[in-house]
Amino acid sequence: MAILTYDERLKEIRLLMQYAVPKKAMAKAEKFINRYATDPIALTLFKEFYSYLPEAKDDAITALYCLDRKRGAFLLCATTILDSYLYIVTTEKAEFLGPIKEGIWDEEVLSFFGYKDRDDFLKRHETLAEAVEHTPTHLAQDLCPICSVAEGENHISGCPLELCPWCGGQIITCTCRFTQLGTDRINEESELDSFLDLLEKKGRIPYNPRDQRPSYLTEDVLK
Ligand SMILES: [Zn+2]
Ligand SMILES: [Zn+2]
Repeated sequence: MAILTYDERLKEIRLLMQYAVPKKAMAKAEKFINRYATDPIALTLFKEFYSYLPEAKDDAITALYCLDRKRGAFLLCATTILDSYLYIVTTEKAEFLGPIKEGIWDEEVLSFFGYKDRDDFLKRHETLAEAVEHTPTHLAQDLCPICSVAEGENHISGCPLELCPWCGGQIITCTCRFTQLGTDRINEESELDSFLDLLEKKGRIPYNPRDQRPSYLTEDVLK
């Protein structure tokens, strides 16, 4: 899969919006997505929404709420002109769960986020009265700016900000995988899995915003 820049992803979303957003709602809808121009979570949701409009009717997202998040997966509610819809979103994909008033039916999703059942979810979130707006992830200091896990959680495998517990370098580029496995190349997925096992045993270094936020992403750059 080709990796698109944020600009390319926005361009793609704007193109989809031409077919999806009612004309008179366009200016506001564009302004809204621009607030999340470098948020990989929101961009993934926007692309899904504007590719497959939930009711197959013209519509536009007007607000985005974060109901829950865990290990880089976000439970988001997109409020639109027509309704409010639930999505579970990672940096890789967004999955549509249905209108919020129907709650969540998927048992796996419910237990992942710690809800007893559908009623428990509805009791907490049906009205959105206490919902907090989704903060663009690049502004949320406690989230990994690349894979979006929270402080204290392990990065998603492959995140370039994960540090190596053996050498302290970047785990996707250091050579510890070879020394640990006693080989000079890794050809098989199974070898990569063996390395991940060793890594778990050694103890992965969880995300910590104080020493793992690249300086170009902090406010210092603006000073
Ligand atoms: Zn990360
Ligand atoms: Zn290393």
